[in-house]
Amino acid sequence: MSGATPRRTAPNPEARRRAAAVFQALAKRYPEAHCELNWKRPHELLIATILSAQATDVAVNKATPGLFAAFPTPADFSRATADQIAVHLQTLNFWRMKARAVQESMAVICTRHSGQVPRTLAELVQLRGVARKTANVVLGNAFEMSEGVVVDTHVLRLARRFGLTRATTPEAVERDLMRLFPRERWCLLSHLLIFHGRRVCKARGATCDSDAICHKYCSNCSTNTPARCAASATRAAASRRRPSTRPRPGRPAR
Ligand code: SF4
Repeated sequence: MSGATPRRTAPNPEARRRAAAVFQALAKRYPEAHCELNWKRPHELLIATILSAQATDVAVNKATPGLFAAFPTPADFSRATADQIAVHLQTLNFWRMKARAVQESMAVICTRHSGQVPRTLAELVQLRGVARKTANVVLGNAFEMSEGVVVDTHVLRLARRFGLTRATTPEAVERDLMRLFPRERWCLLSHLLIFHGRRVCKARGATCDSDAICHKYCSNCSTNTPARCAASATRAAASRRRPSTRPRPGRPAR
């Protein structure tokens, strides 16, 4: 995703009312919704988010304690070699590439930003391994600044199923969500959709027919076809049982 801000147009009042209802239902269900990456300081969140590409938060959270203990500050990362950092990342896919991104991004933070994670989207996306989604995660969670909505695989899927967008690309989905929701809800919105995506509406099959929010708001169920959800779950389960002939690039996206 590029760093350019998606264009905003006038919202449809009925769509905004529906969006608010979806938000309230999810917020009531998941009052504890939050970023599930473990971090204490902004540069740790930035690094954890870089590492989370094509990896689960659980896998990242297993790798980062050793990494952050070995390199406590951005300066420590910038003085290290990518190979020294990579030693701590071997449980993650693309670990060599991620180690280079971590080393180079921390080096730039030290040389251009006095060792502090920058607080603008334009500066963040200049860092290696940082695109718009990662920048939005850091700004929203480390600095409580909302420049956009984090659109990961769960947000994209759920936003479509809940009728919040018809778009298919992360950029277009983000633009639609920014139109529908007030800025102060952007950060929590993505956490709520991710929580629902991880716990109820899993990418491969889902527990559709027993969930009240799904029945009320999901396009699958609101067209009175919960059987489609069950059928898709059955198909997904069957495909999981079938041995794959394709090479496995790594873990599923978070
Ligand atoms: S009804 Fe099924 S497909 Fe729709 S959001 Fe719920 S779990 Fe996902």
